[in-house]
Amino acid sequence: MNIVVQKFGGTSVKNLECQRQVMQKVLRPHREGNKVIVVLSAMSGETNRLLALADEWSNNPDAAEVDSMVSTGEQVSCALFAMLLKQQGVKARSLLGFQAPIETDDAHGRARITDIDKTQLMELLEEYDILVMAGFQGVTPEGRITTLGRGGSDTSAVAMAAALDADVCEIYTDVPGVFTTDPNMCTDARKMDRIAYDEMLEMASMGAKVLQIRSVEFAKKYNVTVHVRSTFSDELGTMVTQEDESMESVLVSGIAYDKDQAQITLVHVKDNPGVSAQIFSPLAEQKILVDMIVQNPSKDGKTDMTFTIPRADVDQTIKTLEALQYEIGYEELNSNLNVSKVSIIGVGMRNHSGVASRAFQTLADENINILMISTSEIKVTCLIDDKYTELAVRTLHKAFHLEEGEPVETS
Ligand code: ADP
Ligand code: ASP
Ligand code: MG
Repeated sequence: MNIVVQKFGGTSVKNLECQRQVMQKVLRPHREGNKVIVVLSAMSGETNRLLALADEWSNNPDAAEVDSMVSTGEQVSCALFAMLLKQQGVKARSLLGFQAPIETDDAHGRARITDIDKTQLMELLEEYDILVMAGFQGVTPEGRITTLGRGGSDTSAVAMAAALDADVCEIYTDVPGVFTTDPNMCTDARKMDRIAYDEMLEMASMGAKVLQIRSVEFAKKYNVTVHVRSTFSDELGTMVTQEDESMESVLVSGIAYDKDQAQITLVHVKDNPGVSAQIFSPLAEQKILVDMIVQNPSKDGKTDMTFTIPRADVDQTIKTLEALQYEIGYEELNSNLNVSKVSIIGVGMRNHSGVASRAFQTLADENINILMISTSEIKVTCLIDDKYTELAVRTLHKAFHLEEGEPVETS
């Protein structure tokens, strides 16, 4: 049995007209004799609408109930799409996370897939030609509905492709592939034919929401080739795949940005052994993702500790750290919500120097102040004032000649 997995995002299923276009994409592999698993997101805007309802109802919405409610967005789009298919005489049915079942841990709102029952899915595929699976959702061993974090349908699809040994997982979206930067921000952005898993991981974790980061982790771990392409055209998109030598000859592959960031500074922290653990362990316990961390040189036994977190976690972070003020021994807590991260990414950086300095000079030429810097083997990230995000992305894109797609040699 040959299985094809296709995922369609919110804009692709947002109304009847779009769903009809999706149907054409789905019927093609079906007519070629494949079994098709179609993973759908909620109609665009629906997840936000549902989450806003929870905030209206409660100051501190219960996470398990939020999941139970927000997962209905996918239930609606799947049932509607299955109706369209059945009307065409196709043997199809909708399938929710708990019905598959897609088993997850109980971290509501950011659950991780722990198991997919392949046996039951294979039985269903004997009976049906197309299964319309709800993305974004799963179920705990205790039977509670969970969701996988924003953009989680990508992960549902790749996990499904990995579990069923599908050759490729097609991710259909509103842009024709993965670009050198967000094509909706920079008109010079160029579509890439291929991108290495590690580059895509950095792009996704640095804010390129075209793929959810966990979907890329799954793809890399289980060696699933992911084809990101457009629902609204037939052109080939971008293959997210294993690295090869030709990829290394490109110095910088892409630029990502993340505006959903906040900077927290603890002023005059006692500079004792263990103080970092005292600050960051309670945040880690609450699964708050701390990214950039800078500790200033100690003066009179005191230091300032600055770090970044997702903006959505600011209230929880402040509450947690305020409760520990005496224990940690800091004098003041400051937060800055007007920051964004801009990152340049490329596996070619491993073997070249000069990338970071060129990026810093480019930002300096535009008078953009860098608040924090972090680097990895294949990435340089700068935290800047968020009002300069677009300017920074565009000028960096130009400085590294990304619109040309030519390998660039540094000095
Ligand atoms: P879907 O609803 O199909 O899951 P998303 O909105 O989650 O779609 O992701 C697609 C969007 O990702 C694009 O519309 C684009 O604005 C954004 N994006 C950010 N960075 C990139 C990039 N490097 N390449 C392509 N798209 C990107
Ligand atoms: N509907 C969910 C979201 O908006 C999941 C997804 O679209 O991938 O985040
Ligand atoms: Mg998405």
